[in-house]
Amino acid sequence: MSSARKVTGLVGWRGMVGSVLMDRMQAEGDFDLIEPLFFSTSNAGGDAPAFARSGEKLQDAMDIAALKRCDIIITAQGGDYTTEVFGKLRSAGWTGHWIDAASSLRMQEDAVIVLDPVNLPVIQAALAKGGRNWIGGNCTVSCMLMGVGALFKAGLVEWMTSMTYQAASGGGAQHMRELLTQFGSLHAEVRDLLADPQSAILEIDRRILGRQQSMPAAEMANFGVPLGGSLIPWIDKDLGDGISREEWKGGAETNKILGQGPAFGTASIPVDGFCVRVGAMRCHSQALTFKLKKDVPTADIEAMIAADNAWAKVVPNNREATMQGLTPVAVTGTLDIPVGRIRKLAMGPEYVGAFTIGDQLLWGAAEPLRRMLRILLDH
Ligand code: NAP
Repeated sequence: MSSARKVTGLVGWRGMVGSVLMDRMQAEGDFDLIEPLFFSTSNAGGDAPAFARSGEKLQDAMDIAALKRCDIIITAQGGDYTTEVFGKLRSAGWTGHWIDAASSLRMQEDAVIVLDPVNLPVIQAALAKGGRNWIGGNCTVSCMLMGVGALFKAGLVEWMTSMTYQAASGGGAQHMRELLTQFGSLHAEVRDLLADPQSAILEIDRRILGRQQSMPAAEMANFGVPLGGSLIPWIDKDLGDGISREEWKGGAETNKILGQGPAFGTASIPVDGFCVRVGAMRCHSQALTFKLKKDVPTADIEAMIAADNAWAKVVPNNREATMQGLTPVAVTGTLDIPVGRIRKLAMGPEYVGAFTIGDQLLWGAAEPLRRMLRILLDH
């Protein structure tokens, strides 16, 4: 792109992903390089955020003419917004770059799933061909590939399973609040018994279960069932064939990010597993099983992972290092992607286990979008 500052539309900037994106863009000085134009679906005409220094009021995010002023649009507004606006904008002749956190366009042929530390060559090839649609990947998939992408890039993986432990925040702000409300009501139920060290643990257990099983609908409006003190082994839509949409994304998006599969004229690597919502606040964790194409020493696997990018960090496979470094609490708010528990499994020398964690709002959402902006500005 030329050196004049590009008008960059920001949609969905005050949501969960959007807020983290704004933080990161300020921290990295991205606003110094663009002419930002802020949009809103709910408050057009209101004041743009102070850090914008744009002097412009909030634009109407549904106004195609206003959107057409932008050279680049970054949206974290959500899939419904993309579905509503993207087609109209392109039909109106807009040829700018669309960078999006939502899944709506991800699998379209002319869209690239952006995760540049893993697939910069795929991004560059699409840019050279005039690509204009850049979509952030599923949070769990992006975090997984940031951690163990080295093994895929080296062509070592015959197949992989991923068993996930996904945080409440994956569903957005309301889900986080609901989890905490549930924890609070469970605690209130047994507060008196907890205060008495002599109270019977089975009585505490019985009361908690009673509260969980009679939880008011308002207290589980977002998750549908209690998550506090429980888990939910289904995330996203039911595809009707026994697979959740989140699980389907694991295989489909991993291959697309890596630039392989039928759309690229190559075979896909089977990636499958179960996606589970747990009562963590932030960060998606996942237990991985690899069947490698050959027996690779564990130390070599660790070295490949550690050398792949600046954020993947190998955690020594022992109790203390795992407890200190391989938890959502340790990882939240950082760009680190720790990979630990790396060891050969009992099934044979080609079977390798690992456990990885990533802040799904950073590498799983905001960071690939702002890095794509930088790639476009440097282009
Ligand atoms: P969100 O928090 O619900 O924000 C989306 C929009 O909701 C905001 O831009 C805002 O739009 C509106 N909104 C209404 N009331 C709000 C309030 N009280 N506070 C803030 N915003 C409010 O959604 P999100 O979790 O950021 O997700 C956005 C997109 O990113 C989705 O497509 C999602 O699938 C994707 N994504 C999410 C994650 C994740 O971990 N959450 C990870 C990867 C991708 P207006 O300002 O226009 O009113």
